[in-house]
Amino acid sequence: MGDRSIHPSRQPGIEERIEWLWQLGRKHSEDFCGPDATLARKRYLAEHPTHIMVLKCMDGRIHIPYATKTPLGIIEPLRNLGGMFNMGWPYLGEVVAASVNDAVERGQRVLIVITYHFSKGDRHRGCAGFDFDTQASIRYVQDIKRQMEHTFGASRQTVYPVVFGFETDEDALILHGPGQNGTGASWNLAEAEASQGADPTNPDEDALLRQLRALYPDMPGRILTDLLPLVAGNIRHIAEIRASGREIAVEHREWVICIGRGFDFLHEPNMALIIGPFSPDLSGPIAKAAGIIRSNMQHGRIPDDGFLLLASAPYREAGMDRARAELKSRFLSQFADEVIRREWPDLHHKMRVETAVLDWNTRRLTGVGGGEPAATARS
Ligand SMILES: [Zn+2]
Repeated sequence: MGDRSIHPSRQPGIEERIEWLWQLGRKHSEDFCGPDATLARKRYLAEHPTHIMVLKCMDGRIHIPYATKTPLGIIEPLRNLGGMFNMGWPYLGEVVAASVNDAVERGQRVLIVITYHFSKGDRHRGCAGFDFDTQASIRYVQDIKRQMEHTFGASRQTVYPVVFGFETDEDALILHGPGQNGTGASWNLAEAEASQGADPTNPDEDALLRQLRALYPDMPGRILTDLLPLVAGNIRHIAEIRASGREIAVEHREWVICIGRGFDFLHEPNMALIIGPFSPDLSGPIAKAAGIIRSNMQHGRIPDDGFLLLASAPYREAGMDRARAELKSRFLSQFADEVIRREWPDLHHKMRVETAVLDWNTRRLTGVGGGEPAATARS
């Protein structure tokens, strides 16, 4: 992904790392718009029309399309510190309701996946947002699921909310059954192949569908069928991770704080902390993210010559929609700038700011002022 020759693991200076990030964004847009990806997406959506939203932590290790082998642009991601969300937050409620409305008007059902994350090897690789307390994060996401059922109906026939765990050592999904207290049945996909004695690189989809149906007896058949490729993809991904002997990312190495929406292109683990614009109190997550960056510098995990604050707001149409996105993105970068100046004055002078808008149709990230390199993303 991107040009590995200037990957930040080589620890070049901040200018070079920022240029690398813009290149990564351009490459992502080119791939996204290419005929292969466009047709693959179209075919995927024709075969699997259920709209899938995923609520997740700002931790960059949690990349559901990558972990489930789903083409990019299918799953709608929503990120916040610790995967903490509340449907009472005015903006979050608007975004989720608008997505659900759009899908339903197209005749689609909606699967809302509410995630928490943990590490099976070391609790300190778990979620810092919950002080590494996995049970507390499970209780929290079960509450969000109840809010979704309150909003979209307890029968779950149009909008089906589910709780999934994400085990980051092997990128394994843990599917929780529809029970309310989180203590009911669950299915750890890291153990799926063993229980079936099947080849994990070529899972038996009929058997998987039977297991899914047993776990979610009231889930509409259409949603079950559209959840199946994520399950099969995750089982294949886990097998690949095991075969690759991937080094477990023990440490935080993030050097980018992203604020806003449209950061799908950041696949590299432990590179960015991503804060969605959903919570009415953005200062808490921003201060927490800046604290992580500061600690990364103090412990020599990243160069201390600078870090990046990247703000982005997506737009679907030229004109008014784009103009609003520019204002949103500028507001977010200025707001984050103020929070970091106030909370971490010794870190603030090392901050570089890039303010951008994202064309949702092409996933092209364009700078709107704030020091973006000249010949890069301006179109
Ligand atoms: Zn987390």
